[in-house]
Amino acid sequence: MSLVVVGSVAYDGIETPHGSAPRILGGAATYIGLSASYFTDVQLVGIVGDDFDPQDREFLAGRKIGLEGLEQVPGKTFFWKGVYSADMNDRTTLQTDLNVFADFNPQLPDSYRSQPYLMLGNIQPELQRGVRAQMNGVRLVGGDTMNYWIKDYRDELLATIKDWDFLLINDAEARMLSGEYNLKRAAAAILDMGPNTLVIKRGEYGAVLFRRDAHFMVPGYLLEEVFDPTGAGDCFAGGFIGYLAEKGCDLKQGHIDGKELGRAVIYGSVMGSFCCEKFGVDRFRTLTRAEIDARFCEFRECTAF
Ligand code: AMP
Repeated sequence: MSLVVVGSVAYDGIETPHGSAPRILGGAATYIGLSASYFTDVQLVGIVGDDFDPQDREFLAGRKIGLEGLEQVPGKTFFWKGVYSADMNDRTTLQTDLNVFADFNPQLPDSYRSQPYLMLGNIQPELQRGVRAQMNGVRLVGGDTMNYWIKDYRDELLATIKDWDFLLINDAEARMLSGEYNLKRAAAAILDMGPNTLVIKRGEYGAVLFRRDAHFMVPGYLLEEVFDPTGAGDCFAGGFIGYLAEKGCDLKQGHIDGKELGRAVIYGSVMGSFCCEKFGVDRFRTLTRAEIDARFCEFRECTAF
């Protein structure tokens, strides 16, 4: 079962209380793809400039991520720089240079169009809709968005998410999108916008999955040391949809086993937690599926009662 992942492929400058990295591989699609690659075949769609390091391409290909849809054009790769607060719960963006990402207009290679799973990373909603329209026979589609699109591109965003199976956003975004402070009410309002499933990420506090008939809560995994939370939300998304793709799941009413959905949320949390253990994508240079499954079991033990 192949998963198509669309979004930013970037170089990031990161400062955390543990240190800094001036320019390392990042981007939402990079994190989603790396995380999902432990569960399913991944086909990436993104754009980079001619400064994109061949070693970074090799690293992604080494995780068996399909790169036919990673366009390389003259110019510079998208660059983002952020600094974290002392407790690492807040982050301030210091620089966003869109560079070649400003002209990103994703065109799927023919071989991607018939794939059953689609994850739309945080890009302009109209582009997300355009990608969805290029797929024929997609079984499960979901995506992410951010405050900027919610605030200034609301109509476009609503027209886009109405055809999605799931939306994965953080609590502040859920409140902004719904106009409701209470998360249960916010979730009900968002489920009325189209998606049959909503996952609200709550950073170190975990995540809550909402469907019309049920909700499922998972705490955050307690790490001894968080080095760099960049990409944790995207890795959550990669683990969540990657697991559903591995199991061949569908989210339509009557097609989904609630237990599988719960496991997908746990795998999402597990992948988010691994991401924070090293700077940037570094944890994925050594991480194994056995380590992932061991942490999944640990999660089960420390949440069962
Ligand atoms: P996360 O920590 O899960 O929010 O994801 C962080 C990643 O998102 C970083 O690697 C950035 O390169 C990427 N990113 C930051 N700002 C944007 C943006 N405006 N559009 C797309 N990707 C972004």
